Amino acid sequence: TSQLMAGKRGLIMGLANDKSIAWGIAKSLSDAGAELAFSYQGDALKKRVDPLAASVGSSLVLPCDVGDEASIDALFESLKAEWGTMDFIVHAIGFSDKNELRGRYVDTSRQNFLTSMDISVYSFTAVVKRAAEMMTDGGSALTLTYYGAEKVMPHYNVMGVAKAALEASVRYMAEDLGKDGIRVNAISAGTIKTLAASGIGDFRLIMKWNEYNAPLRRTVTQEEVGKSALYLLSDLGSAVTGEVLHVDAGYHVVGMKAVDAPDV
Ligand code: NAD
Repeated sequence: TSQLMAGKRGLIMGLANDKSIAWGIAKSLSDAGAELAFSYQGDALKKRVDPLAASVGSSLVLPCDVGDEASIDALFESLKAEWGTMDFIVHAIGFSDKNELRGRYVDTSRQNFLTSMDISVYSFTAVVKRAAEMMTDGGSALTLTYYGAEKVMPHYNVMGVAKAALEASVRYMAEDLGKDGIRVNAISAGTIKTLAASGIGDFRLIMKWNEYNAPLRRTVTQEEVGKSALYLLSDLGSAVTGEVLHVDAGYHVVGMKAVDAPDV
């Protein structure tokens, strides 16, 4: 395999298990020669993350709850002590109360609105700020978003509003950090069955709908998101910043599928 990421070090945030999008990204970066650190949320996940990290040659596995500033500071203090500098960061984190990922957006509570924005939007800004201080030779930051930011998707509700804000934050940080040679991008991934996705109402139906209606007539895999992440995080994407790259089998371009299709 190519060694596009040889000599590059970076942090992967949001690994929960081997179905996580973070895992597809971690494997593709590791295959390309990157040295990885992982952060996980809460002790319960450590026993899952440790063996996955070990399988890609990483023993730098650190706790971080992104809802807590002190926890974020502690993570970056450890990274700074261990590495000094870094080249990339992947933020594959989102959260909303699953009781509000069904039914109507208009019923969102103030508390869950604030929590969803805090964990799913502000956390990316908070970690990019700290990572950028360690990217002395330029760098690349990546987050994960979804089409529900752009168009109304059933049950996505407050997460759609949060992802719209996340995508805007990508553009603002691209401008802020561009002069330091740091790029900031998002991948808008098609639906993938993960822990977080299983909290969304009618998720299986939404997966099927995508499969029938996307130009490629299928959904996407963690590995495919990983390959596109490699492009954005490596030198292949050196002139790309502030971008939201759709890795969704083309679903986002469809207004209405042609009716002569046999599988309407
Ligand atoms: P996942 O459940 O595997 O990952 C979500 C991660 O967020 C978990 O590792 C969880 O520990 C972490 N997290 C939640 N709250 C946290 C906190 N307070 N502190 C630290 N970590 C916290 O699910 P996934 O689908 O791989 O999700 C990764 C990202 O991809 C999310 O931003 C999600 O919105 C996005 N995404 C997913 C899909 C999909 O269909 N699965 C599609 C597009 C975008």
